[in-house]
Amino acid sequence: MTNPGITPQPSCADNFEADALPVAEARRRIQSTIAPIKGFEKVALRSALGRVLAEDVVSTINVPSHTNSAMDGYALAGSELPEKDTKTFKVVGTAWAGQPLDARPGTGDCVRIMTGAKMPDGTDTVVMQEQVERHGDTVRVGTGHRRGQNVRHAGEDLAAGAVAVPAGKKLSPAELGLLASLGIPELRVTRRLRAAFLSTGDELRSVGEVLNDGEIYDSNRYTLYGMLGRLGVDVIDMGVVPDTREALRKAFQDAGRNADVVISTGGVSVGEADFIKEILAETGEVSFWKIAIKPGRPLAFGKVFDAVFFGLPGNPVAVMVTFYAFVQPALRHMMGEDHIHPARTKVAAGSRIKKKPGRTEYVRGYLHTDENGPVTVDKTGFQGSGILSSMSRANCFMVLPPDCAGVEAGELVEVELFEGLV
Ligand code: AMP
Ligand code: MG
Repeated sequence: MTNPGITPQPSCADNFEADALPVAEARRRIQSTIAPIKGFEKVALRSALGRVLAEDVVSTINVPSHTNSAMDGYALAGSELPEKDTKTFKVVGTAWAGQPLDARPGTGDCVRIMTGAKMPDGTDTVVMQEQVERHGDTVRVGTGHRRGQNVRHAGEDLAAGAVAVPAGKKLSPAELGLLASLGIPELRVTRRLRAAFLSTGDELRSVGEVLNDGEIYDSNRYTLYGMLGRLGVDVIDMGVVPDTREALRKAFQDAGRNADVVISTGGVSVGEADFIKEILAETGEVSFWKIAIKPGRPLAFGKVFDAVFFGLPGNPVAVMVTFYAFVQPALRHMMGEDHIHPARTKVAAGSRIKKKPGRTEYVRGYLHTDENGPVTVDKTGFQGSGILSSMSRANCFMVLPPDCAGVEAGELVEVELFEGLV
């Protein structure tokens, strides 16, 4: 669209902007200026869930600690298994889990054995109880068995001296169990990050207040609270800060002195940015970027005193997208995590998606499967950058790369799931 006499400025309605930063480049710039925080704490095993391990955990024992049976059945020497027909073995005792048999079976003997029981000396094979015929104190065993079957070897899960869980691993339920199997009651984890956040805008009211004409409720502090909380970050809620020089200066100074990370929302788009730029220039250094992303084009990044600063856009979905795309990987890196980006997978689009080339688009998607049909992903509805309801209906982002010029039904698209299993 052109109007005689009007020279348009670059805006978020443009798809190609020569000076817009690609998403990967913005991530690279962020990563190159941040470092993992120093500082650890010792926590009890259960409290370590979701925390990041600060040092390798080396196994001091074999897991399992003894070679044991994987089945209820009969332990015998595999060299005695019949090659044809059947063979009868004498049952000379029982080995229970936690109560090993201390007798050594002789030639032609076997031992009744329970799952988890230590293999008696001289035995290396277990025949399942369902696969024998028991007659009094003897069992008849047929062919088709393999020497060494149904036995779990000492150290096959974790060998003594090996790294059981490496530093940088975010601890999930599997690691809690694994570390418990080593008998470890306490762990060194990186200390919690502290993030201060604030909302800027004269139009914003907090929940519980009355809205006047033209005002809206602040939602960004709630999505940020949720996203930061899930990451295991301690939050400092600085509230809504009016668009005045004094209020903003004080808020940024307090935040920068008390937190590792400062996150603001709003006030970074063209026209407003000058004001924040001026204040941040006094306390640190900040760059204002236009990123080739939709939604979430404006982003400020830098420092407030020693704290890392992210100035996110104001629109509620743009806040969530830029948080997941830029802030979350940065915070995970700062917390010492080795794995900072969410897993992506490719899924067929359920219907056509319109897109112009130029920017990376984060489309709110719903991944679903019919009883017999393939897994497909569909848009959740109107994709405006302020529309939280379509975000709430989504369970994933479809991440469409800059060169994508639309997606046909059935075409594979890259998907980032909101929730993983662990
Ligand atoms: P801004 O970048 O400050 O111009 O904000 C862009 C849009 O996002 C405006 O419509 C704001 O009213 C809206 N907005 C900014 N901050 C918030 C917030 N904390 N909660 C909800 N909407 C917001
Ligand atoms: Mg504003």
